[in-house]
Amino acid sequence: MLLFIAAMMAGTARAETSVRPVCHAHSDQDLPTLQNAADLSRIDWICRNGDYRASEDNAWLMFSGDDIQEAGGASHFVTQISRFDRIEITAFGRGGAVTHARYGPDDVEGYAAGPNMALAMPIIEDMTAVVVRISKPWGTAIAAEGVLQQATTGAPLGWTTQMTTMLAILMGLLIAPLVYNYAFFLVLRERFILWHIAMVLGMTFFLGTTSGIYLRFVDVSLPVAAFINQVAFLFPTAAGAAFCTHFIEPFAMSKRMRDWTLGAGLFTLFVGIYASLPFDWMRPFGTTVYYLSYVPLIAIFVAGMYCAARRRSRAVWFQIYGWTPILLVGIERIIRGLGLYAAPVWLDQAIYLTLAFEIVLTALGVVDRFDVLRADRDKAEARIDALSTLVDRDALTGLFNRRALETRYPDLRADGFSALAIIDIDHFKRINDQFGHAMGDRVLQEVAATLSSDADIIGYRIGGEEFLMLMRGTDLQRRAEQMRRAISIRVANEIEGIDTPVTASMGLVDTTPGVATTLRRVYAHADRLLYEAKNSGRNRMLSERIQLFDAPIRRKGEDRRTGERRAAGAAH
Ligand code: GH3
Ligand code: MG
Ligand code: MG
Repeated sequence: MLLFIAAMMAGTARAETSVRPVCHAHSDQDLPTLQNAADLSRIDWICRNGDYRASEDNAWLMFSGDDIQEAGGASHFVTQISRFDRIEITAFGRGGAVTHARYGPDDVEGYAAGPNMALAMPIIEDMTAVVVRISKPWGTAIAAEGVLQQATTGAPLGWTTQMTTMLAILMGLLIAPLVYNYAFFLVLRERFILWHIAMVLGMTFFLGTTSGIYLRFVDVSLPVAAFINQVAFLFPTAAGAAFCTHFIEPFAMSKRMRDWTLGAGLFTLFVGIYASLPFDWMRPFGTTVYYLSYVPLIAIFVAGMYCAARRRSRAVWFQIYGWTPILLVGIERIIRGLGLYAAPVWLDQAIYLTLAFEIVLTALGVVDRFDVLRADRDKAEARIDALSTLVDRDALTGLFNRRALETRYPDLRADGFSALAIIDIDHFKRINDQFGHAMGDRVLQEVAATLSSDADIIGYRIGGEEFLMLMRGTDLQRRAEQMRRAISIRVANEIEGIDTPVTASMGLVDTTPGVATTLRRVYAHADRLLYEAKNSGRNRMLSERIQLFDAPIRRKGEDRRTGERRAAGAAH
């Protein structure tokens, strides 16, 4: 894309046949209208490319007849849309003939392609020279950019069609970031994405106006067009400053640097707009102030990027690579805007190439930053997940704890875990007393490991040496009893030094699957069975079946039991 644009720009912005002035001048005296070639010597001509000034009342341009002839003639004076009081074009012919054409701001009819206006030249035979006098020029560009062109059918005055097409393509290039930025914002509500949208809209405005494309659709007067033309670049600039402060990672840019950058952006915006307003007294220095309004922002931006790079910002490199070409071209523009010299035309196009480059790099930067932020967010979420499982787990055994049981019970019931068993180790105090607390801990860990050996059984540690199992599937009594016995076997196998077998008592409750009930009710049943098991000699399981009727299961609601029946008694 960039290559394509560069290729387009290899062509010239204005037609090859454009005639540039051989000399120019500025003067404060109110010279009368030029009557003959001898009058030309009363002007101090500067015959090199530089020292254009807006501070004096008149700017003069002189074109040579030979140049005009070589270019195949000229019919119009074409220059950048700018404010002025009067433009007088004088054509000198062979044998002393002189004709004039005079224009006021209201006489500018229609605009040429690009940010240009065209004024018809007076017609004379055998042109030897043309002098253009601009009274009260607003800014240096109106003189520095002035050329003569021949109006021909098919080729517009002002910019070439190629150049206008290139800018239209550039504007098209801006649509993509707008679309994906919107999508990004839906995922990550980050401010910098909004500022990027603002910046892209500002650039669209800049391209749409400085290319003169908008002039084909709306009818604006010369002062308004000149104003819009001058302020257009202020908007992407100010939005770019705000974007930068949000785009750079928080660690890489101090609060103070952010404030300064934002402040400088606002300063440029307001001073720039103010300096572009048509106050007559401001004419001699308005454009100078306009160009200088960028200087603090450039300085602070450069300082900010330097600091961010030193703080190992990743995002900053997209800013540095993206903005450096624009800054270089922009600084050139400022120097040129101050009238120190006039540039070859291709430099004007460079700003668009650098802009395209910046658009691409910033877009890449936004995508990259988006990726980084999303990865960060995912990591944070994973951490929260890990923490919340930590809250749900018992530290010694790694089993779920009572809290996890209480929060997840309704869902697990709905998933088919309709049986519940409470397990209590028999005479556990003795193990602690005889073998020490550490040995007791090991026993608890082995019990936990036993309970984790069946995929359809979830083990919980609900108290010191009290465990709980949620079970689903068939053959529950047999499996529960097997699990109870497996505890003794595993402890005996895994732990050396305990001479008496470690046994457990169990109370099992099996309920009707798919019917809602509360943990508290099922638990109370199981606890009573466990108590009975302990009382009837320990090392056994007692089980019961509760028949529930009708109440459909609700994951969150309370139980509305319509009937219940004890189905089975003790089993051992
Ligand atoms: P019973 O057969 O009636 O259940 O007798 P028991 O000794 O197991 O009953 P009791 O509930 O009175 O004793 C439980 C003991 O478990 C008391 C306590 O010191 C011990 N205990 C509780 N938590 C832990 C623990 O995390 N580690 C160890 N090593 N012991 C614990
Ligand atoms: Mg016990
Ligand atoms: Mg106990």
